[in-house]
Amino acid sequence: MSQYASDQATAELVFPKDPKSPEVIPEEGIEQAIELMRSGRLYRYNFNGEFNSPAEKEALANEPACQVALLEDEFSSLVGHDYAVAVNSCGSAIFLALKAAGIGHGDQVFTNAFTFTAVPSSIVHAGATPVYVECTDQYVIDVDDLQRQIAANPKAKCFVLSHMRGHIADMERIQQVCEEAGVYLIEDCAHALGCTWKKSDDEQDLQVGHFGNIACFSSQSYKMLNSGEGGMITTNDDRVATYCVLAAGSYEYLYRKHLACPKDEAIFDELKPIVPNFSLRMSNLSAAVIRPQLKTLPARIDQYNKRYDQLKKILNKCEHIFVPEYLDRASRVGDSIQFNLVGLSADQVDQFLAEVKRRGVGLQIFGRQDNSRYYKNWKFSFDAEPSLKQTDDIISLACDLRISLTFDESDIQLLGVIVTSVIDEIVAV
Ligand SMILES: *Cc1c(COP(=O)(O)O)cnc(C)c1O
Repeated sequence: MSQYASDQATAELVFPKDPKSPEVIPEEGIEQAIELMRSGRLYRYNFNGEFNSPAEKEALANEPACQVALLEDEFSSLVGHDYAVAVNSCGSAIFLALKAAGIGHGDQVFTNAFTFTAVPSSIVHAGATPVYVECTDQYVIDVDDLQRQIAANPKAKCFVLSHMRGHIADMERIQQVCEEAGVYLIEDCAHALGCTWKKSDDEQDLQVGHFGNIACFSSQSYKMLNSGEGGMITTNDDRVATYCVLAAGSYEYLYRKHLACPKDEAIFDELKPIVPNFSLRMSNLSAAVIRPQLKTLPARIDQYNKRYDQLKKILNKCEHIFVPEYLDRASRVGDSIQFNLVGLSADQVDQFLAEVKRRGVGLQIFGRQDNSRYYKNWKFSFDAEPSLKQTDDIISLACDLRISLTFDESDIQLLGVIVTSVIDEIVAV
């Protein structure tokens, strides 16, 4: 084949699959959801009985209307925290975590300049103002800049660390910096279920969420659990867990219908009159579709990582693409890939975006005026636009590509070929 003919052939390639395809719900979850709808018991507390003893727990184990309580129990075991509280989104989870940490009007909260708009929004929802911290070219928070911001803002005593796209920063260093400065750490694990950090004194990979006081997870459709909408707060702190149970919407003695919450009634008695009910509960339907997905998590993580490794290999062959390595002690779930464009002019970047779009590849650049992951678009969170040059330089050329389990090996190959050949064509002109 002549070079001309092979260029022609490449130009015809269009990616056929929907990059937004979510993961389907396991049959077991569908059946459970149908059974629930037949009973009408969608409200998490709509069952008779309480979990006051192991015998009562056993008696209720097969009660369809206990889905949320059972999910909280299973999820807390999965991530390794004592307590879990299910809510309607991770944004709500972060909001409640901030409230439980005592954050309110006029406070400042450190967070990533590179994250999703729900994170600064939760901080604003709690009445506080975000103080943004730069990101590195590995897409994680810059801990040196965190230290500078802590020194420059001595009144700020809380930090929402966002594990954006599951990229994990040096967790032991962050933990140490926060402890030394008396900064309360909340981990946004919305996109980090299955992502780990191996501590220097431990051989085990530890699910992130254990380096701070509270962890928040999401079951929005593009995360590792899919209930459309949903969130989870996990912690080992009795008071935080009690606060979140009450504030999520447990009133009177409904907390006795929880499995993964503190059993000390004195804390509930103390906090009940002073904690508002924000009505952020999860419905039994959401919990019913999430529970069977917990069992398939390890297998799905492997499937994502296989696809990620295959795609990374192809992209790395292109000299205009930089796919950063993860930090040595970190592991990640490859349900999306991030890479930076190198050596393209602004015009060439625009051409690249238009051409991959025409070829059916759902690729976005984070640092753009139409992207909700670009801090300049979070005008609700500041009066004067912050200047974060390092983050700008990185995310203005950082591409985001979702990997779906509906993509098979040949789809991944095709994705890689389209992305790299489009770049080659553009720079060859
Ligand atoms: C999705 C996401 C959120 C928000 O989660 P919701 O459940 O949609 O509220 C927060 N942070 C990060 C990093 C996310 O990816």
